[in-house]
Amino acid sequence: MKVSKLLTKTQKQDPSLEVSTNAKLLVRGGFVDKLGAGIYTYLPLGLRVIEKIKNIVKGEMDNIGGQEVLMPGLQPKESWEKTGRWQVPEMYKIKDEDYGLGWTHEEVVTPIAQKFLNSEKDFPKSIYQIQTKYRNEPRAKSGLFRGREFIMKDMYSFHLSQEDLDNYYEKVKEAYFRVFERCGLKDFTYYTLAAGGAFTESFTNEFQTLTDSGEDIIYICDKCKFAMNKEVKADKCPECGHDVFLEKKSIEVGNIFKLGTKYSEAFNFKMQDKHVIMGCYGIGISRLLGTIVEVFHDEKGIIFPKTVAPYDIYLIDIKSNGEAEKVYEMLQGEGYEVLFDDREKTPGEKFSDADLMGIPLRVVVSEKTLKEGAVEIKKRSEETIEMVKINEINNFLKEC
Ligand code: ATP
Ligand code: MG
Repeated sequence: MKVSKLLTKTQKQDPSLEVSTNAKLLVRGGFVDKLGAGIYTYLPLGLRVIEKIKNIVKGEMDNIGGQEVLMPGLQPKESWEKTGRWQVPEMYKIKDEDYGLGWTHEEVVTPIAQKFLNSEKDFPKSIYQIQTKYRNEPRAKSGLFRGREFIMKDMYSFHLSQEDLDNYYEKVKEAYFRVFERCGLKDFTYYTLAAGGAFTESFTNEFQTLTDSGEDIIYICDKCKFAMNKEVKADKCPECGHDVFLEKKSIEVGNIFKLGTKYSEAFNFKMQDKHVIMGCYGIGISRLLGTIVEVFHDEKGIIFPKTVAPYDIYLIDIKSNGEAEKVYEMLQGEGYEVLFDDREKTPGEKFSDADLMGIPLRVVVSEKTLKEGAVEIKKRSEETIEMVKINEINNFLKEC
């Protein structure tokens, strides 16, 4: 993609209505646009990152037998009355109509499973979607951390025994670790014990990513690194008995719940006279975009991990007399995703946009580099600049 053709332009100033770092950088870089508190458009650059995160998540859910569906956002009141959740504060309701906007999907997925899982051999099953959720969040000030409309992956599993659910829960846990690792967040993300809500068993588990702008507080055992949400009351580490904890701010990027029979009871979903046992598993896709930005940035802008970056390379033309265009063609031919800054702008402006957008590699083709038959390559995450001969670019990039 040529920057001269890109829909968006970067902004030098922080947007006046944003307080969170993730929203400031994402708005300035042209990744998202704010329509209202907690309501954002994903612009071309932002949508590319969202798609990469989605693909990672889909791959891992498919790998543990999840089957993808897409359920409606518009949901009839009668489904919610069955579980007693029509009156929750999160629910946006359509005035004068018996419909609400889905803030979660147990009420839709349970009857679907009930329709198709009608013999023992149909179990277990796992169904997921990546879909827009609507929630009337009172505190929608932290950019993509807390949307009123946001993208979530939600998966629901159906089992005939507790043991089967317990086994699947472990598989999902491992798949979640792989998701966060592939998003570059492994070193920052803790599997955390959390208090169960009204509809779950006594404990649930969250995946919490450390960041000072996080809305949660977790305690990490100083000895064995076991982590607990602040809500969990414990004097000693439940894992090793040690009593010194590190207190850290974090954001919940995912959670896994053993739902038990709460929803199968509401819909009278039974097999062999016993209520079906359910699990549910969420990942905040758009919150992950915000989290990646909070964890990976500096004073110049975002520093995307390469697995989720909107492009692999930011190519800069500085009076190259058509040579940069050739490098652009060559890199694309090799399969790289390249954002080519072909604009009539100063080198300084191009460098600062490359830094702001956080593309992992910057390649510069200028009069100066061409004198040596070379280009300049710099990683966004490092300071070193390397001169690389044009015919060696491809080999060099393979090592990056
Ligand atoms: P939180 O405690 O942060 O409000 P939650 O317990 O309400 O989260 P779930 O309903 O289980 O979360 O949703 C699954 C995942 O979706 C969460 O782990 C989080 O990553 C994400 N999520 C929840 N609410 C929002 C929101 N308002 N905006 C963006 N992502 C969200
Ligand atoms: Mg919530």
